[in-house]
Amino acid sequence: MTSARLDLPADHPFGIHHLPYGVFSTPDRPDRHRIGVRFGDSVLDLGAVTREAGVDWAIAVQQPTLNAFLAQGPAVWATARVWLQQLLTDAGRPADDGTTPRREAHHLTEAHLHPCDQVRMHLPISVADYVDFYASEHHATNVGSMFRPDGDALTPNWKHLPIGYHGRSSTVVVSGTDIVRPVGQRKGPADPAPIFGPSVKLDIEAELGFVVGGATDVGAPVPVAQAMEHVFGVALFNDWSARDIQAWEYVPLGPFLGKSFASSLAAWVTPLEALAQARVPLPDQDPTPLDYLRGPAESSYGLDITMEVRVNGSLLSRPPYATMYWSPAQMLAHLTVGGAALRDGDLFASGTTSGPDRDTRGSLLELTWNGTEPLTLDDGSTRTFLQDGDEVTISATAPGPAGSVIGLGEVSGRIAPAH
Ligand code: CA
Repeated sequence: MTSARLDLPADHPFGIHHLPYGVFSTPDRPDRHRIGVRFGDSVLDLGAVTREAGVDWAIAVQQPTLNAFLAQGPAVWATARVWLQQLLTDAGRPADDGTTPRREAHHLTEAHLHPCDQVRMHLPISVADYVDFYASEHHATNVGSMFRPDGDALTPNWKHLPIGYHGRSSTVVVSGTDIVRPVGQRKGPADPAPIFGPSVKLDIEAELGFVVGGATDVGAPVPVAQAMEHVFGVALFNDWSARDIQAWEYVPLGPFLGKSFASSLAAWVTPLEALAQARVPLPDQDPTPLDYLRGPAESSYGLDITMEVRVNGSLLSRPPYATMYWSPAQMLAHLTVGGAALRDGDLFASGTTSGPDRDTRGSLLELTWNGTEPLTLDDGSTRTFLQDGDEVTISATAPGPAGSVIGLGEVSGRIAPAH
């Protein structure tokens, strides 16, 4: 007997070439968070299946978050991936005319599969430190043009270092979590004094998050050439931003309350290994970065990931991650060069992904040019910034092996009224 849920076509977006990791619970045990691997429309209980199979890394995945598995490092991540691909390939073949390993794989897998629509997803990692970058030249140029119309769009440092800031780990939430409209101070240029109240310029930022494992010591920088050994995988990320709060507070120390109320992370973390076919060269970097930001192309690369941004189902933008100026390896090398340590469960995000064209911009700030050019949704309504009840969903695809497609786990959130 073969099973429809295991016998997936090779080009399924959650097929054998993808196998993202997440954390789930079932309705009968809602408090028991378990690591799962997505295959098709099912979740494989990784802790249970590895315990039964007796693999030697099983204890690292019998956990309520991915952090202990992240601590194992790239050799174990690769071992786990090979093991899972073999198990699921064997399990997907007919068991009754197969070998003993195939029958066992089928039995083992079937016993620990849960349909995706019958589980609840949780934050996949306990977020240690969180850093957000600003790696899109198009985004930085657009924002600079709007906020500093009389000066150069890019600040003098922008092409010399990946700009970033330390964000707030505690308000990283899993996809599907409602986003409560933040309150705070704002003061428009024409306002005589600041006022306090709900943000009226609530925005999104379509980003890619990088999940880090392999802790390092304080004072031990990670060079570009080794940086990707610390990146377990990627997940879509929405850095919700209150533009009015941000505009009033950001000088001179950068983002604070305008970005710390919520940041949404996709429930599924795509292993970096699944994106081997998506690697692309970086855009030309001119001027040449300083030596510590230079490294071999096999570590310092971009990713051919195309995002789609939807508000209430209307497709507004398709940001191309391949246009990002700085590589994730350069971001991680810069993050640590001053001596900062990495912790298992660190998260760093790319910054808003915007391409060169209007319909590839990754924020409403840019898509509506700071509210001056409203967008029309499919239902005929218009938007500048988000209204209460709006649901934002960011999805993405990347090329996989042999013409297949990797469909990244989406990140979504609905705006709830301010408290
Ligand atoms: Ca951001």
